[in-house]
Amino acid sequence: MTDIIDGNAVAADVRDGLGDAIDTLADADVTPSLATVLMSDDPASETYVSMKQDDCEEVGIDAIDIELDPDAPAEELYDTIDDLNDDPEVDGILVQMPVPDHVDDRAVLRRIDPLKDVDGFHPENVGRLVAGNARYKPCTPHGVQKLLAAADVETDGADAVVVGRSDIVGKPMANLFVQKDEYGNATTTVCHSRTEDLAAKTRAADIVVAAAGVPEMIDGDMLSEGVTVVDVGINRVDADTEKGYELVGDVEYESAKEKAGAITPVPGGVGPMTRAMLLWNTVKAASLQHDVPVDLP
Ligand code: NAD
Repeated sequence: MTDIIDGNAVAADVRDGLGDAIDTLADADVTPSLATVLMSDDPASETYVSMKQDDCEEVGIDAIDIELDPDAPAEELYDTIDDLNDDPEVDGILVQMPVPDHVDDRAVLRRIDPLKDVDGFHPENVGRLVAGNARYKPCTPHGVQKLLAAADVETDGADAVVVGRSDIVGKPMANLFVQKDEYGNATTTVCHSRTEDLAAKTRAADIVVAAAGVPEMIDGDMLSEGVTVVDVGINRVDADTEKGYELVGDVEYESAKEKAGAITPVPGGVGPMTRAMLLWNTVKAASLQHDVPVDLP
């Protein structure tokens, strides 16, 4: 029997677990707060931001919504970040990516106070993660760690293959897997667009994390019996549905499920975890900045 790892259920547990930490903060008169900054009129980005705000309100985190004209000068975004950095009422800052082409996204990430950088993308936080002293783990790979833990998948000594080397998923995922740490200690291979014979790498893996953004590129033939498959990919493909498309992962679910010991579905796998771990980081940000220790789930 293949274990279908239910991301919605694990994410609900994380959110429930955050309730105790939020209560502890409330006892110290602290309500965690997250400022989202949107400088885009892309409908997908607008949806992502509004979902993040709804998530915050649901668990008792204050959501501060800032929208900037996509044609405004970059300075306007920098000034906004500076104001949020200085505001003691703001614990976390998230600038929704992508920003317009005339704005340097690396400069944006560097501008955010590392203590408020709940995405974990500031170079200081990236460095801490690599050094094994993470402050804020990026939400998607952190969520993958929580999913593996919830499914009792042992990473210690396992051969893990990460497909994709982006700054937001592939690289931090690999960095978490190699840490001498709980949910780490995996022998880790990072595959990418220049990898030769990807199938040989994935077939040799105990755990495959697919984050390439290529619809259904990994099928059952590329996997060995009993492998754990975590599908990060979210891809829109044309389909005969009301919307004219459907969402698929980077893994061909049906054939992969035949081989896998455990697998995450798309949707309902990694996606809900990414959202839950943003709340987790925001609660941690409040705890750190107000000096109120909390137990995090
Ligand atoms: P990206 O485009 O920044 O990076 C993709 C990576 O995949 C690159 O490093 C590239 O080298 C590698 N790659 C591309 N084609 C490949 C191939 N044929 N073989 C091997 N490697 C290949 O993408 P990203 O931002 O890391 O996102 C990856 C996917 O995950 C996308 O579908 C994205 O929508 C999804 N995503 C999901 C969540 C979530 O919460 N579930 C979060 C972030 C991203």
